[in-house]
Amino acid sequence: MKGGLGCPLKKGDIGVLHFIRTMEIKFERYHLQSDLRSPLEGFETVSVPTEVRIDPLTKRRSRIITWGLPSPGKFDFSNMAEESKGCLFCPENIFQKTPQFIKEIVPEGRVCIGRAVGFPNLNPVGSYGSVVVLCHEHFLSLTQFTSEIYEEGLTAAIEIIRRTTAFDPDTRYWQISQNFLLPGGSTILHPHLQVIGDPIPTNEIEWLLDASSSYYQKNGTVYWKDLIQIEKELGKRYIACIGKVHWYVSFAPTGFNEVCASAEGHGSVATFGKEEIASLARGIASTLKYYDEKGLNSFNFSVYSISGEAHYQLLTRIISRAPFQPYYLNDWTSFETLHSELTSNIIPEELCREIQPYFA
Ligand SMILES: [Zn+2]
Repeated sequence: MKGGLGCPLKKGDIGVLHFIRTMEIKFERYHLQSDLRSPLEGFETVSVPTEVRIDPLTKRRSRIITWGLPSPGKFDFSNMAEESKGCLFCPENIFQKTPQFIKEIVPEGRVCIGRAVGFPNLNPVGSYGSVVVLCHEHFLSLTQFTSEIYEEGLTAAIEIIRRTTAFDPDTRYWQISQNFLLPGGSTILHPHLQVIGDPIPTNEIEWLLDASSSYYQKNGTVYWKDLIQIEKELGKRYIACIGKVHWYVSFAPTGFNEVCASAEGHGSVATFGKEEIASLARGIASTLKYYDEKGLNSFNFSVYSISGEAHYQLLTRIISRAPFQPYYLNDWTSFETLHSELTSNIIPEELCREIQPYFA
């Protein structure tokens, strides 16, 4: 289907409907439209709009599609949880069957904070890959992921990062991530975090650093500080401030129902105090409650933690994934996998309005 306003699109084309320039942050978007004779409307001609937005920092494009598939309804996880319980992460196995850190990093073997237990990943994908099991329960629904669970889990993750960095100071690039359920890429149902650190950045970390370094050189300010100020003034995508952590919906999302956070004054979680950890934990739990109400059950999040970069301010992104159900539909199509063109099925400003009450 061709774009209603003509292709190919270029910056400055007539396709640019909306253009705000404040400081060096630009919110650019293109309107595309597909005309067709719809069987749902007696074969009358209808116009289906799509918006292409360009991320002000990374310049990556996102497609905001305005139609959605009907919700599959809530899936009952009780059989699945029953069949797989007694896993490696369950309390009766965790201290017998999971690996221990080398003595130079964690002499006691594992990092235990409240219910959270951190240990090296048996199948790492880099220099330092760890797992933090969040709770004793083998399965939690999204509403059962409380702030307290994340406070303990994040505290354990940060302790692993601090101890590893003390042992190997070259490990500056970290992620604390969660993949939940099969659509999120998790093979184990039992809720856990991934804590991964390397001396070289991931692609995403490098893109964020390169772009924010250019911004800093041009403007003499940190991109996320300016962004937060602008988003607060615009009032369309800024959700809430919890302590020093600002929560907002990105103009050009990297995935479905994406919610972001930026922690003022921090590039790395290693400098986090209890307050920052609690603020991050509360926002994650609030977002998951919103996802649950929307009939979603699977998600990914990542905290991008980078030390020693004055132009970087700590970013976290949470996205929902296609809800798990029998014969579930993967939400990454050729657009995302082979064209690096990200899609979202909710207008970011609408998402902000909907999710704000969950942060109250
Ligand atoms: Zn388990």
